[in-house]
Amino acid sequence: KTLVHGDQRRLFNTSNSRMTIMPAWVIDRYGSNDVLRFTKNAGFPIINYPNEVVVQVHAAGLNPIDVSMRGGYGAATMAMKRDPLNINQSGSEFPLILGRDMSGVIMECGLDVASAYFKEGDEVWAAIPPWKQGSLAEFVVLSANEVSKKPKCLSHIEAAAVPYVAATAWSALVNTGGLNKDNCAKKRILILGGSGGVGTFSIQMLKAWGAHVTVTCSQNAERLVRGLGVDHVVDYTAGPVEVPLRALEKFDLVLDNVGGDTESWALGLLKPWCGAKYVTLVTPFLCNTDRLGIADGMLQTGVTVASKALKHLSKGVHYRWGMFAPNGLALDDISEMVDAGKIRAVVEEEFTFSQVPQAMLKVEKGHARGKTVVKIS
Ligand code: NDP
Repeated sequence: KTLVHGDQRRLFNTSNSRMTIMPAWVIDRYGSNDVLRFTKNAGFPIINYPNEVVVQVHAAGLNPIDVSMRGGYGAATMAMKRDPLNINQSGSEFPLILGRDMSGVIMECGLDVASAYFKEGDEVWAAIPPWKQGSLAEFVVLSANEVSKKPKCLSHIEAAAVPYVAATAWSALVNTGGLNKDNCAKKRILILGGSGGVGTFSIQMLKAWGAHVTVTCSQNAERLVRGLGVDHVVDYTAGPVEVPLRALEKFDLVLDNVGGDTESWALGLLKPWCGAKYVTLVTPFLCNTDRLGIADGMLQTGVTVASKALKHLSKGVHYRWGMFAPNGLALDDISEMVDAGKIRAVVEEEFTFSQVPQAMLKVEKGHARGKTVVKIS
């Protein structure tokens, strides 16, 4: 192996050495599903920082953000994260590789990656930040702190169904909502949208921590969510869902995976003046920066969230936005919960690598019942 000392760049010089290209699904511009292009000549990922690892991807999970990013959603913020000094020309992100969930095997570790944590051959899983090249490719490079050892009891396909929704749920429920395994017992939690990726994961984590969980979902998803341990199900297709919800005892936390008009009534379902929180995952943050540019978009975001938080604080409840955040340490905890049988992967449909366009269309159609996963190798 060769280490290029000057820029800390580590290059493959083993049996893998001639791997300068790899197969991947890429996009060269934003648009609908026909922008997806398969190539055998995508650039092989290289370690640019000593805390990075190269992983051979075995399975990639898809999320609604892949469909949105295919269409250009979040492009302004992602460009700033990739190139904070704005040196590169617009469009320099292409060819862009989508895919946020990854399960695979470590092929190479940067010099600062302690062998106590990771070594070549380790089976790992990760949620890939949206500003990095994704998992619809044979290899991906990630920071070691974004990666975690995959649960032993899951196949790669099952493991690729978990990290992005798990890291999002962790960020929303633990970091923003203040919940943890020691304070959840008997707390009443409402999940708006229980049948998709975030919902099916959040239900299981909250039940493992002893919470009382109510979800809204379509009637035909009731069996799925009951099987994950939900205590109470409200069918949102049967009429205005806020009516049956108002008849229930009030909640300590509402996790909103639905958005739209939910904000107009969901905060009224919280227990007032006792720290109860509404956390929504459906926020205009990236749309604001796409529409207004980074500075004005962030300003608009700050004004919106602060004014809503103040308005609801005066009524005794907390209003918050939840955001995905990469978190290898949280994945370590989740891995233990999976291996202890407390959380299972909910794979709705599996596709082959050649079927990536079909897999994207499946996610785009909505009505998810768990996760869509692509087998890569
Ligand atoms: P999915 O597409 O996996 O699931 C959405 C689920 O919601 C589907 O099962 C759908 O089924 C159900 N649903 C749709 N409308 C309603 C409704 N009115 N009431 C109850 N359920 C409904 O999405 P995810 O779980 O991955 O993500 C959920 C939301 O969170 C998405 O909007 C996503 O963009 C957002 N998100 C935000 C993140 C952030 O960083 N802020 C990160 C991750 C996700 P059906 O239509 O059949 O009822």
